[in-house]
Amino acid sequence: MALMITCPVCGPRNGYEFRYGGEDKGPRPAQRELSPGDWFQYVHANDCADGIQKEWWVHRDGCGVWFTTYRDTTVNREVPPPEEDA
Ligand SMILES: [Zn+2]
Repeated sequence: MALMITCPVCGPRNGYEFRYGGEDKGPRPAQRELSPGDWFQYVHANDCADGIQKEWWVHRDGCGVWFTTYRDTTVNREVPPPEEDA
């Protein structure tokens, strides 16, 4: 079964309508306050969670809105937010 993603504007849609935007790493830090190594880690290092992770997606073939959602990477399915983030 294809990945289904719920757009906050359009509702549940086929995952092929969306484009992955990367892991949600929280608020962007001020680049001036970071060493080049720390900035590199923020931009390029990913957790690649084996399980549920929060991710950015864009509804590329729909309304164009960017949003975050949770996906279980072990089964490639969108899941409800964990209780601490709900
Ligand atoms: Zn949409």
